[in-house]
Amino acid sequence: QRTRVALVFGGVSPEHPVSCLTAGSVARAIDAERYQVIGVGITTDGAWVRIPTDELIGFEVKDGHLPQVAEDRPAALLVPVDGGAAIATRVEDRLTDLEPFDVAFALLHGPYGEDGTIQGLFEMLGVRYVGAGVAASAIGMDKDLMKRSMAAAGLPVGPWVAITPSEWTHDQAGCLARIAELSYPLFVKPARGGSSLGISQVDAIEQLIPAIEAARALDPKVVIEQGFTGVREIECAVLGDPDRQPKVSQPGEIVMHGASAFYDFDAKYLPEDQVRLDVPAKLDPAVADQLRDLARRTFVAMDVEGLARVDLFLDADGKAWVNELNTMPGFTRTSMFPMMWAEAGLSYSELIGTLLELALRRPLGLR
Ligand code: ATP
Ligand code: MG
Ligand code: MG
Ligand code: MG
Repeated sequence: QRTRVALVFGGVSPEHPVSCLTAGSVARAIDAERYQVIGVGITTDGAWVRIPTDELIGFEVKDGHLPQVAEDRPAALLVPVDGGAAIATRVEDRLTDLEPFDVAFALLHGPYGEDGTIQGLFEMLGVRYVGAGVAASAIGMDKDLMKRSMAAAGLPVGPWVAITPSEWTHDQAGCLARIAELSYPLFVKPARGGSSLGISQVDAIEQLIPAIEAARALDPKVVIEQGFTGVREIECAVLGDPDRQPKVSQPGEIVMHGASAFYDFDAKYLPEDQVRLDVPAKLDPAVADQLRDLARRTFVAMDVEGLARVDLFLDADGKAWVNELNTMPGFTRTSMFPMMWAEAGLSYSELIGTLLELALRRPLGLR
């Protein structure tokens, strides 16, 4: 009997279409002899719908449009059953089907998916799932909490300021005074975002408040970072195995040579915006090992399970810094994380299998 996988994708975050792209990519690559996919889409309004696999495998960029979860599909309900959970499909007022599954794979990016919320739902139902647990997902999603825990673990992070909604509303002058301690350029970010959405590089003070408002449009909590200049942008892929040390890929590098000033949304997803991914990065082997060790220590310090991509900067003095960690990194076939593993000899479909097997082996309950 095949292992039954509830593949959850879409979601209410602005990264909905990216998640759908990933889901199509995974549905096409998954070893269909070993795994049976039960597709569950979350619409942009948060409704759960059952998406058949033959529809899901068609999810790709078409005429420049990213896929999206259609609303006019039968409702999918996550229901507890003996020994775990099942997906029930509701047509009008009837539950027409009950499909138990063995493991959940939430291919969701951003809030309400990558941030511990759906992981909490799985924990409550006793469902095994791919990736980081509740706490690591939640801390990893919030760039303020993430940097605080990295700094506390002695990891090298740059200076930053966090602004909560009440601080911005009641003490804007105090917020601006704290930001004035940082040197320009600044990077203004939604605290809990991804795909560079809502992020601005700020080169002069008159751009600051508009940048904060742009970030606040996506998240009432905002993080302002001191920008690194003249750095190389490096990423490492990590696979966590509870029985041994996490495995870290060779570093990859993002080389910008197009219109974008930094690795923004267009550079990530629109092919005409020139960005080159060097996998592996052209680095001295000793430097590569230093970066991999930093990625491994970050993964361990944040108590991540399963997978993460650690985003790093390498400055002109050869010092490495942690920018951030993503507990559900970009995961299409041509995303950095799968490409870095492919370079190490683990194909995309083998990588999907590895993640599912890790999740199935993980004990339920507190670990
Ligand atoms: P994703 O989750 O898709 O990797 P994100 O939305 O979490 O992205 P970041 O990785 O924090 O955002 O930042 C996006 C990009 O902005 C980085 O890849 C880098 O190019 C640039 N950047 C972010 N912070 C800084 C900084 N402090 N100094 C210089 N560049 C930065
Ligand atoms: Mg991120
Ligand atoms: Mg992300
Ligand atoms: Mg990043």
